[in-house]
Amino acid sequence: MSKVTVIGAGLAGSEAAWQLVSRGIPVRIIEMRPEKKPEAFHTDGFAELVCSNSLRSDSLNNAVGILKEEMRQLDSLIMKAADENRVPAGSALAVDRAGFSEEVTKTLKEHPLVEVITEEVTEIPDGPVIIATGPLTSEKLAADIMKKTGSETFHFYDAAAPIVEKDSIDFSRAYYKSRYDKGDADYINCPMEQEEFDAFYEELIHAKCADLHDFEKDLKVFEGCMPIEEMARRGKKTMLFGPMKPVGLRREGEHPVAVIQLRQDDVADTLYNIVGFQTHLTWPEQKRVFSMIPGLENARFVRYGVMHRNSYLPAKDVLLETYQSRLRPDLFFAGQLTGVEGYVESAASGLAAGINMARVLQGREPVKFGRQTALGAQAHYIANCEAKNLQPMNANFGIMVLEEPCHKRERKAAFARQSARRIREIREMLQAEDGEPERGVR
Ligand code: FAD
Repeated sequence: MSKVTVIGAGLAGSEAAWQLVSRGIPVRIIEMRPEKKPEAFHTDGFAELVCSNSLRSDSLNNAVGILKEEMRQLDSLIMKAADENRVPAGSALAVDRAGFSEEVTKTLKEHPLVEVITEEVTEIPDGPVIIATGPLTSEKLAADIMKKTGSETFHFYDAAAPIVEKDSIDFSRAYYKSRYDKGDADYINCPMEQEEFDAFYEELIHAKCADLHDFEKDLKVFEGCMPIEEMARRGKKTMLFGPMKPVGLRREGEHPVAVIQLRQDDVADTLYNIVGFQTHLTWPEQKRVFSMIPGLENARFVRYGVMHRNSYLPAKDVLLETYQSRLRPDLFFAGQLTGVEGYVESAASGLAAGINMARVLQGREPVKFGRQTALGAQAHYIANCEAKNLQPMNANFGIMVLEEPCHKRERKAAFARQSARRIREIREMLQAEDGEPERGVR
């Protein structure tokens, strides 16, 4: 069987490689880190989570929860590593980022069918290839993709939030509590009185931002990952309906106007990220302004927030619904570069691309998961949305289709049931055709 080259060992590339080797197909993973490291990355590990450690809701009332369940049913390595490295985060699935990445790296590096090469790929290679180089695809490869696919890669801005050490938080102000006291009290909360909020707001909107390169100045900010200072500039109350929303977080007898939440970031429970505080402020300004948050006056920042250019393809012109390129049948794209948005969505597209590359090499038709599933809905969206309207898309019910109409309040449960049915059918079809997949060394 021909060896498949997977370029990029991020969330999508790692999952795609796993799906291939699980089916007995050898894989060459080419990853440029640590030789060349995009600025948002901090480690050499596979499947590094570059910002938040949350894979978002794990509830089947939510499209991203359904997407995760679909991946589990299709033997996802990313989901297995996430479930095994879970840290407390209420109904969200948050992970110890180091343990999660280590498990993915070890599983793949120790697999007998995996070869790993450290180098920057600058041109699309011949032979079966999955390109999963992410939103920070290196410039030379991006230029070659644009040239060969005849497309212009789009850019927008994305940002990451800072992380502080728990033992530097002042618990005479901060306290544990979950919103409306639902579930375990996993989040640390920092309440702000009116005067403190006014002072914080003034400093935030006037704080110095990091320089932008000239060519990046007119790029769009992705609404779902808006820097906190940008949100503040939209209006003094905007943050109070976003990351500083106090409802359900006030303690009895207290009336703060704002509450900032921090979420556990590692299993050892020593690091916490400031939820929703993605930022483009310079590092000294982050230290100065965020230290005005009650409880964080003496916080030690182990990682400051950063902002980055993101790239994605005009998928409709370049890709089929199976993540196969229109250029040649043995070239697939996966991950954020295809226009899906988020860790889970990127890994899910890698899962679909891996399964479908295996099928192409076995002389079978690639699978379309269909809009009854969250997996199929995101593939359908990117492959059918006009390039000029394409915005990177998180999993959501709006892009899924419910086959049997039902009452509004039944819809979420109906989506979950429908997805489970369709995924079971696909899994049984794959198992019947592949034989029980050989799962290799884990
Ligand atoms: P990546 O995980 O980025 O993996 C791509 C890999 O390809 C990298 O390891 C890279 O080193 C390698 N590579 C790149 N070019 C080459 C080359 N030429 N040759 C060889 N290797 C190469 N999503 C969320 O759900 N939550 C968040 O909080 C979040 N925050 C983000 C913050 C930032 C700053 C950015 C940039 C993105 C963020 N995202 C977030 C969006 C997105 O989900 C992640 O970027 C996700 O990691 C994408 O997965 P991927 O596999 O497509 O790419």
